[in-house]
Order: sequence, then structure tokens, then C-alpha cells
Amino acid sequence: MPVANPVVEGMDEAELLGFVSRAAVAAVRRAAATSPLYRWFYARTDLRPERLRTLDDVRRHVPMVTKRDLLDFQRTLPGGGATPADPSVRQLHLTSGTSGAGREIYPRDARDLAGLGIPGAYEYLWAGLAPGDRLMLTIPYSQTMAGPYFQETCAAAGLVPVNAFAGSTADRLRDLYRFACAGISATPSYVHRLTLEARAAGRRPATDLPSLKAIFLSGEPYGAAWAHDTAAFWGATVCEGWGATQTLGVAMCTCERGAVTADGDGTPRHAVLHGLDHRCWIEVLNPDGSPVAPGETGEIVVTLLRPSAQPVVRFRMADKVRLLARGSCGCGRPTSCYAAGTIGRVDDMMKIRGMNVWPDAIDAVLLRSPVVDYRGRVYSDERGREAVDVTIAFAAGTPPESVADLPSRLRQAVKQAVGISVDIAVVEPGQMPEEQFKSRRWRDERAVRAVGVADG
Ligand SMILES: [Zn+2]
Repeated sequence: MPVANPVVEGMDEAELLGFVSRAAVAAVRRAAATSPLYRWFYARTDLRPERLRTLDDVRRHVPMVTKRDLLDFQRTLPGGGATPADPSVRQLHLTSGTSGAGREIYPRDARDLAGLGIPGAYEYLWAGLAPGDRLMLTIPYSQTMAGPYFQETCAAAGLVPVNAFAGSTADRLRDLYRFACAGISATPSYVHRLTLEARAAGRRPATDLPSLKAIFLSGEPYGAAWAHDTAAFWGATVCEGWGATQTLGVAMCTCERGAVTADGDGTPRHAVLHGLDHRCWIEVLNPDGSPVAPGETGEIVVTLLRPSAQPVVRFRMADKVRLLARGSCGCGRPTSCYAAGTIGRVDDMMKIRGMNVWPDAIDAVLLRSPVVDYRGRVYSDERGREAVDVTIAFAAGTPPESVADLPSRLRQAVKQAVGISVDIAVVEPGQMPEEQFKSRRWRDERAVRAVGVADG
């Protein structure tokens, strides 16, 4: 069994929980004493950090923080947090997407950056990658944390990054072979697209790309059957990591057993994500703030246990996951356990081509006179690319000549507002299907969400 951290992996559950408990209490005290954000936030509460002793105390007495709280605090800072103020800051990481609420800015100091790639190394080493192995990276390098993070994960695990974020799918497929990559890191949607491209090119990676050991998924939920078929086609273990800007990298990841396993009758089923509990305390909570029971789904709430230029204490991630009982994996590691493939948004946010897209933001563009309603669909096109089509209806009696160029103008406006391209078609208002809830305007028909990829 590969070992990434003999100390933590050698602990029993009680030892690890004891460590997490002490570290979480210390993290709250540190944030309350030194972090401008938490000093501002806790000043509005009666929190007494010196009285906290146990995880249960933290759970009961420390208020949770949301993205909105952080954004409110940012607005009190010079330049909304973007203006240089602290000379110890070495990088600024923005969260991705445009919820309309804004993007959080995370300052990083030298210590944050020195340890930036370490959590990713757990994921790679547990999957069986070894120093010198090549890992293809496809996630774009921008002002978010993803670019520097993935580079550093390679450095931490001794891997050679193959930076493919600027290439076409054909370029990436060629380079997987050319550099004899041992791993690829991508979203499920992108892996699906690459699978279709490889099939179309007559590739048989399970036999003609023997270097490939693992596929590292992140960013979206996916079906067990799809993961099973993807593993078979590539002849590689399908793995998964979940992390965020708030958690300074991966906070849960699969072990050598991968993200998908089979029941007795061969039916694929999601396997286990291990919490990196010694780095990040993960809670899975009901909407009322009570912890969910194993087997249930709830919102992920994180507390970063290591010191950071931006401490994170009981931060509500708006991501959901299905909690599993400790020991669910069978590998024997003492960590908390979660169901792979099940992490999605608790709100109705959609992740499309790596962009966070909220239906509200599209409503704001489309739902204006003379448009009375619309329906959207996200799907995988014949080449596996994520595509979006939108059907709009005009108010009855709208003169056709007055709206002739409206679809193309709306297309541009959507692109400007949320950063994605959509195809727009027009129907009569009567042809629009009735839906009760606003979020039901959207359907997600992407291939990785559903059944397996047919082999052929
Ligand atoms: Zn395991």
C-alpha cells in the first residue's frame, strides 16, 4: 500500500481525531487573534475562543462563515482587498466564477506557497505515481489558485508536469503518448471529450499507452458507470480529488483503490474519498447546521488547520457530499470518508467548461422584454465538448421584424455576462414546457452525469 505520510497514516482513528480536535481549537484561536477577517466577523458575536476545548465546543460555539461574509469584509478593505497593503503577501488567488456576488481574494504568504502543492502529492502517491512520472495538466493557469497549485503539486510529488492547458484536444492526445504520461488531471467532462477523440483517432490506450496509471478527476460530479468505462478504456485507475481555494488545495482524495469499485454482481459503484483530516477539518452538515449521519448528503464546511495568510474557519463551501462512515474504504487508513463522484453544488450553480455559471446571471440577461421565458440545456456534443443551447419565447404579438437580430445580440450578452457561448433558438410561447421552479429551466444532459460510455 503506498504511503504518503507515515505519521498520519499510521495513527488510529482516536489519535487522528485528537490531533484534529487540538488543531481546530488552535485554528479558531489563531484566526480570532490575528486574522482581520475573523476579528471583524467575531466582533459581532459573543464568541470566547479561550473557552473552547473540543471539536464539539467549536461546532457549538463558533459561527459559520459564508462567501458573502468574506465579500462584505473585502469591501471594507482598500481597493476591495486588491490594493497592496501587506508586504508579506506573495500571491493573490481569486475564486472562479461570477455569481453576481463577486470573487473572493485570498492573499498568500511565503509559507502558504512553500506548502502549496503538498496535499496534491497525497492524491498522486496514493494512486501509485512515482518521482519522474509525467502528469498532464489541463486546468488553465489564471489568477485563480488552480495554475500555481497544480504546478506545485507536481513539484511536491516529484512529478514532471506536462502543461497542456493551451493545447487543442488533438495536441493533448498526441502529447499523452509523446511524453508517455503516467497521469492526467482534468474535469470529468474533459476526460470524456478526450476519450471520444482517442476513439475517433483509433487509439487503444489500455494497450498502446502502457505508461498511463491514473486519471485524476476534479470539479464535477460523475456517474460510477461512466468512471468504470473510462478506467477500462484508458487502462488506468480513475481517481478524484476535491479541494478549493479556501482549503489551500485538495482536502479529500481517493487512495490506490480509485474512485470506482464494483459490487458483487459487477455493478460499478462510487468508491471512497479520504479526508486529509490533519490538514483540513471537514464537517458535513444539514441546512440547520447539525451534522449529517453516515450515508447522508450535506453541505461541506471546512476549517483549515495549518496557519495561513488567510485563515479559514468553519467556512460553508456551498458544495455537497455524501458522508460515509470511517473505515468505509477497506484500505485501513484512519481518515474520514466520503463518497467519490457525489460532490456538487448545494445551490443551483452549474459548472460549464470550468466556469461557474448561476442561472440567475443568465436570467438577468435573457428575461427582458420581449423575451417572456426560456429553457436551457447543457449537453455533450458529438465530439464530447460541453455545449449549451437555449430556447427563448417572445411575448405574443411581437412583430418578427423587430426581433430578427435579437438571438445573436442575446448570444453576445450571455457570453459577456457569464463567459460561455450558447446557441439560441426561438419558439412560440405555447411550445415552452411548463416548469414549476425557476431552476427547472435548466437541464443537465452531459454524458459524464449519466450512464457509461459505450465501448466501440
Ligand atoms: Zn482507501
